[in-house]
Amino acid sequence: MFCQITRHSVTYLSGKLKIRKLYIDPQVADYPETDEISTRMNAGLTVVADPDETLRDIRNSKNPETEGKHCLFITCNKGPFIRKCPGTSHYTCCDYHILHVGAYCTMDCSYCILQAYFHPPVLTLFVNFREMTDQLETLFSSGRLYRTGTGEFTDSLIWEPVYPLASRLVTLFSGRNNAVLELKTKTVATQGLLGLDHRRNTIMSWSLNTEKAIREQERGTASLDDRISAAAGCQSRGYPLGFHFDPMIWYPGCESDYARIARKLFRRIDPGSVVWISMGSFRFMPRLQEIIERRHPRSEIVHGEFIRGPDGKMRYFKPLRIRLYRALVEAIRKLAPDVTLYFCMEDDEVWRKVLGYTPGQYGGLPSILNASTVRHCGLDPKRISEFPRNTVDTLPVPPV
Ligand code: SF4
Repeated sequence: MFCQITRHSVTYLSGKLKIRKLYIDPQVADYPETDEISTRMNAGLTVVADPDETLRDIRNSKNPETEGKHCLFITCNKGPFIRKCPGTSHYTCCDYHILHVGAYCTMDCSYCILQAYFHPPVLTLFVNFREMTDQLETLFSSGRLYRTGTGEFTDSLIWEPVYPLASRLVTLFSGRNNAVLELKTKTVATQGLLGLDHRRNTIMSWSLNTEKAIREQERGTASLDDRISAAAGCQSRGYPLGFHFDPMIWYPGCESDYARIARKLFRRIDPGSVVWISMGSFRFMPRLQEIIERRHPRSEIVHGEFIRGPDGKMRYFKPLRIRLYRALVEAIRKLAPDVTLYFCMEDDEVWRKVLGYTPGQYGGLPSILNASTVRHCGLDPKRISEFPRNTVDTLPVPPV
């Protein structure tokens, strides 16, 4: 059973959406974090005996995905906070760990998988910070290297104005030798992070896309220029950086647009600060198609030619994906030849045809990314079980 806090026009957060309702799980009603959020959102409290009816209403409404962006649940995570990213055996996976701090997003990208992932999709924040800290301490005391991030089930920074969890995590990860935190965002909500003593254990990451794709598919997100400026600001404070070109979207002329982003990026960003750049092309589970057509009727992204991949997702034909990646990789390589590039969910053939090697030749993708993490985040390889006999100079480096 949940309590419900209701206040119309509560607080303006990110993008153009407004949170109209807060639901508070009684289990967290006394938590200081709950109080902090309620106060910062300036929300009045209305207790509702049984909010299931409201949840059912969201689920049964004409547009549950939009309704869910107006409601926020404050609750506790009753399961594990740290989960292995669900890759598939058909494509090369990077062995990433998700730090599950909340769900759904105040922004509204047409292609967002989260629209189809949660039932019903409702903004959720977990405030049992102590349990999360305990689970992280267990992880910190292990010998292996963990690359973790909060940006898989939500955007990492949308709640910073009302609940500065990301800032707290930066401090928690600071100085650890075997774990890094990646904060992945399409916002510019970095203000609270700039002055923190992060010791390079936090990688600030932005998803990048062409101006056309941002305008047409990424409603409520920051512009490309603003994302790059925010990254430059974090770079000036010593943060390592990551960039994700995912999903890359095909349209006539897109290749030169992607190449232009690379030029724009490296006018402001020092390649030496970049831990990794990932690439992935637009792909979707068939059930997302109906949601995109219903909620984003002007979007044409699902109307191209697709094939069904071995994981059941629809993707562009492989030659088209390769063409798209090559345009971007060529532009990046001219300006930042040493930056670690990788693909999210692609097979060896794509790796070989675009980058000229397969991850297996260099110990596998996790090893390549771990090595880049050690180099950029100042970790000591001797204290990490994956690299017991390595120094920074002898870590695996794929060719450029
Ligand atoms: S920013 Fe990310 S999480 Fe938010 S709507 Fe877009 S794709 Fe989904």
